[in-house]
Amino acid sequence: ISKNIWEQVDEYFIEKLIPTDSTLDHALQTNKEYAIPEIDVSPTQGKLLYLLAKIKGAKNILEIGTLGGYSSIWLARSLPENGKLYTLEVDPEHAEVARCNIQYANCSNQVEVIVGEALDTLPIFKEKSISFDFIFIDADKQNNPQYLKWALALSNSGAVIVSDNVVRDGHIVDSSTNDDRVVGVQKFMDLLKQEPRIESTAIQTVGSKGYDGFVISRVK
Ligand code: SAM
Repeated sequence: ISKNIWEQVDEYFIEKLIPTDSTLDHALQTNKEYAIPEIDVSPTQGKLLYLLAKIKGAKNILEIGTLGGYSSIWLARSLPENGKLYTLEVDPEHAEVARCNIQYANCSNQVEVIVGEALDTLPIFKEKSISFDFIFIDADKQNNPQYLKWALALSNSGAVIVSDNVVRDGHIVDSSTNDDRVVGVQKFMDLLKQEPRIESTAIQTVGSKGYDGFVISRVK
């Protein structure tokens, strides 16, 4: 099965299931203009995040890894009127572009982009007693084990945690890999295996973003 057929099927699903959306197109176009890497989630994946958050009825969402705000817009749209999304980004340029995209999407009143190393900014939520119903982990995979610990510390009971890029073209099963991003995800998986406070599964994804996958978890 070729990558080409994955892309064709992804396009087919997008055409059938995701109405044309000039706001999201604008975000991707702006990202291109500012040379932001095209490592955002795909439209079908963005809609998966939106649906999971909506099905959960999430009021408070945390995203670790904003990039240009493409997934942030999807998540923000799942929120009820009194809901809030906090999204963490280390690169000030990414954060600035994301703020513009989020404003263009009319979501600024519900989204706060927080600039800094996520491990430095995550303690803010503990200090302010802010907890979450839905957490999307999508930043530097090297820190995934720490992000999982923070996600558990900041989750409400029943919270959903989604983590992206857990397959990476199958490298996840390479026990001798030198790629520290893959090692980060492997350590994250080891933590999940031994962590009694969370139940999880993984789905492999193919499509416009290649062969990868998500871990989807629920905090008990
Ligand atoms: N969630 C985004 C989307 O789908 O549109 C994609 C996020 S991209 C894969 C990862 C982002 O995490 C990049 O913008 C990168 O600058 C940011 N990042 C990397 N290391 C980080 C860190 N230590 N703290 C916060 N953000 C970080």
